[in-house]
Order: sequence, then structure tokens, then C-alpha cells
Amino acid sequence: MKIVTTIAEFRQVRRGYGFESVGFVPTMGYLHEGHLELIRRARTENERVVASIFVNPKQFSPTEDLSRYPRDLDRDFHMLAGENVDLVFVPSNEVMYPPDYQTTVSVSRVTQALEGLRRPTHFDGVTTVVAKLFNIVQPSRAYFGQKDAQQSVVIRQMVRDLNFDLEIVVCPTVRESDGLAMSSRNKYLTEDERKGATVLYKALQSAKSIWDGGTRNSGILRAAMMETLSEELLARVDYISAADPVTLEEWHGEIPRDSGLLLSMAVFFGQTRLIDNLLLE
Ligand code: AMP
Repeated sequence: MKIVTTIAEFRQVRRGYGFESVGFVPTMGYLHEGHLELIRRARTENERVVASIFVNPKQFSPTEDLSRYPRDLDRDFHMLAGENVDLVFVPSNEVMYPPDYQTTVSVSRVTQALEGLRRPTHFDGVTTVVAKLFNIVQPSRAYFGQKDAQQSVVIRQMVRDLNFDLEIVVCPTVRESDGLAMSSRNKYLTEDERKGATVLYKALQSAKSIWDGGTRNSGILRAAMMETLSEELLARVDYISAADPVTLEEWHGEIPRDSGLLLSMAVFFGQTRLIDNLLLE
């Protein structure tokens, strides 16, 4: 496994892959099974696998956790080598954003709901760094997690709008045995918060069972999630949503029979903000 830190080095190794297919998994590091599942999927579908590790400052607001975001590069490299990754790109901030850097990539509509409402500069940071990484890596396929449902929708839109010549593959959310979605940020949770954090998945399941029973009223589905979340005293709800999975617009009243549903939420445990979602078709 090669590890490179500059764009020139990356391009030199990448040129050696010629016309071989390249699967790309962008990450912010501090890897877990969720990341590794993306890598494994990329491994089965491509001749070469490239991962990147970059904690992108542009997708954090000044009040967020950039400086304390967990990092452990040695452990990450060990895990990536164990999955037969060919090439890891680990750029510095200066490589990605030199002092005269001036360009932002911005997707307008699907960034306005859900996470984008609460984190207004977040998706510009994401699309800017992912566009740059796509131009550097030149992948055949790029792999993202359903865990960040809106991110996948936003990136698909960017790829369509800007004609990136690659396929976006969205992989299922990997969960702990008690249902908590794996996340690098779970490390911040105290023991009690970690126990309480299972309430996100429970809330999604409570709405799912109502949906499976035939209820299509979005208010009832949101109320079911809220009721479950309110049983956990350590949980402070930022938002809960029952939205159209394509437009991400909130459903009001009855959900049309032929439409899908994205249930999603953000919940604080102390300073730690957790997100989770469930896609129902
Ligand atoms: P991050 O390092 O948090 O930026 O995540 C890198 C990629 O891994 C993103 O596409 C995430 O959606 C994906 N990811 C993170 N957690 C999970 C998970 N629990 N299951 C599946 N994919 C995940």
C-alpha cells in the first residue's frame, strides 16, 4: 500500500494504473467498520482501490469540533493495509487549500433542508473538497455511506450537474450490535451517553413499524420518533424529519402511495451531535 501526501506524487502513482478501474473512498479518518465496508465494496468492484484521509476544515463551522476531531493515522493505515487498499492520499490543509485558494463548489436546492438548515456552510465545504478529490483521484466509482443520507444526495446532484465521469455508490449504514450507527464521533460519548445513544435507532424503528403497518401520515411518523426520543433524558433533539428521499423536502400530512420516505434526525448528547436515518421505499 502506497501512502502519498502531495498531488504530484498522487498523480504519478495514479498514471501507473492506466485504464484500470479505480474505486475511491473519501474519509476523514479515525476509521471504523462503516468505512471498511465501503472499502470492501470498492475492492470487489474495481481493479484498484484508493482511499483519502483528510479532515476538511471547510465543512466545519467555527463552533464545531474541527480541532478535537479524533485522529489516529497509524491505526488508519494499518486498517487500510488490511483491506488491500492500493493507495492512500493524506494531504495537508496547505496542499488542499494553498494561501491563494478562492473557489467554492455549491449545490443550491438539496442543501437547503435537514443538515444544511442547521449547518449552513457545511455542504459547500463537502462539495468543494469532494470535487477537488474527484479531480485529483479520477475514480471510476466513488463510495459513500447511507449514514450521511443528505451528503449522498448532494454529491449525486453535483456529479450530475458538473458532469463528473464516475459512478456514485451508496452503501448501507453499518451499526453496532445495539443499533447505534458507527461514527468517529461516538468516541466523544460518555458511558451513559453511549448507552442512551441507542435511542436514535429505536426512534427510527418505532416510525418504521408504524409505516410498515400502513400509516402514511408524516405527522404521526414524526410524533412516534419524538415520543421515543423523549424517553431518553440525556438526548436533546436538534431535528427530526420525515422527508422525500429525492428532493429532501419535508412531507406534510399524507405521504403519496408511490413516494419513498427518508426518516432522519440529529440529536445532541452533551456537546456531541449524532445523526441517523432510515430510507423506506
Ligand atoms: P467520514 O469519515 O465520517 O467523513 O465518513 C466517510 C464515509 O464513510 C462517508 O461516505 C460516510 O457516509 C461513510 N460512513 C460513516 N459512517 C458510516 C457507517 N456507520 N456506515 C456506513 N458508512 C459510513
